[in-house]
Amino acid sequence: MATHKDEGAWRPRTRAVRGGQLRSAFQETAEGLFLTSGYAYEGPEEAEARFQGAQGFTYTRYGNPTVQMFEERLAALEGAPCARATASGMAAVTAALMCSVKSGDHIVAARAMFGACRYVIEQVLGRFGVTSTLVDGSDVGAWAGAIRANTRLLFCETPANPTLDIVDLRAVSKLAHSAGARLIVDNAFASPALQRPFAFGADIVVHSTTKYVDGQGRCLGGMVLCHEDFLVDHLQTFLRNTGPAISPFNAWVHLKSLETLDLRMRAHCDNAEHVAEFLSRQQRIRSVRYPFRSDHPQAALARTQMSGGGGVVTFEIDGGKEAAFVLARRLKLIDISNNLGDAKSLITHPATTTHQRLTPEARAELGISDGMLRLSVGLEDPEDVCADLAQALGAA
Ligand SMILES: *Cc1c(COP(=O)(O)O)cnc(C)c1O
Repeated sequence: MATHKDEGAWRPRTRAVRGGQLRSAFQETAEGLFLTSGYAYEGPEEAEARFQGAQGFTYTRYGNPTVQMFEERLAALEGAPCARATASGMAAVTAALMCSVKSGDHIVAARAMFGACRYVIEQVLGRFGVTSTLVDGSDVGAWAGAIRANTRLLFCETPANPTLDIVDLRAVSKLAHSAGARLIVDNAFASPALQRPFAFGADIVVHSTTKYVDGQGRCLGGMVLCHEDFLVDHLQTFLRNTGPAISPFNAWVHLKSLETLDLRMRAHCDNAEHVAEFLSRQQRIRSVRYPFRSDHPQAALARTQMSGGGGVVTFEIDGGKEAAFVLARRLKLIDISNNLGDAKSLITHPATTTHQRLTPEARAELGISDGMLRLSVGLEDPEDVCADLAQALGAA
């Protein structure tokens, strides 16, 4: 099995379709699903050689041909030197964090982040003597002010969930490097079709491939993308021995989904822009957030680091929780779900679901109000999504 020799010269859309492909002796056109946990050896000498590091697979916790194709294809898309797939986005985040700090180190992270990431940074790493400071990710001065002598890691998500705040990746990676720290970027919301953080100085990129990479809400997956020294010195040994390996089946689903990622993301962006525009004209909607709209406070920055605004629109309805619940309850097409990045449009009320565990003060600090709704705009005809919102608003 061998990869294609011209791969390095391919443009991103070609890499998304053909990158990393390994063909078996059958010369299959579609990537093979190697649903196997182990591998047989020609003889004991070959087994011995493999365990000494010779090319080839030994056990699926260590590596698998289907998983490797998924890793190489996503690495090619991100412009990353190395990639390792994991069972979920949280397994990827946890591995990247655990491999980046040790007891006594300090982390600076953007406050607006996925709740489970905050739990790992504050609660899990906190128990092992790692301290952290949370800052307003959109304020470069706040990042600079929070860095200490023992800061070894900066962590952010951009655009952030659910406020769609943007972090200036170029400025924050500069701050990290001048402090001798690494920058980890959670790129789940944009996907590599719209944003490649390595181009702006990120050291590590993590993904929940459960979201836009899958794109059809079928299975969980994650990825850590990094430079070779981090892989060899930290990540590879950690993953092999702690075992957050992705199922080859899930890796195959996500690998095949990468072939249509670019097309889907463009449609998600077009549809989200259309729905955001519709919402901005509704009397009962107080505000609409979408990264590429001119009324987003960081629209100019978003346009320098993203090639599209993404598929998520966040808006606030007059009347708080009551009005938000009435709107959600009346929807007929859009599903109520805390997931996102699906072909189906999904709506969630962050204050009572994804951000329920935070105190009202912490939610206020993040700009999450009781009237806020997060809409993951799908691939339906956007006129039908708007019509559903219109009928629900009329009734709300
Ligand atoms: C969903 C999500 C995660 C966690 O991913 P799972 O695949 O659900 O484990 C992490 N970060 C962001 C930004 C996410 O949206």
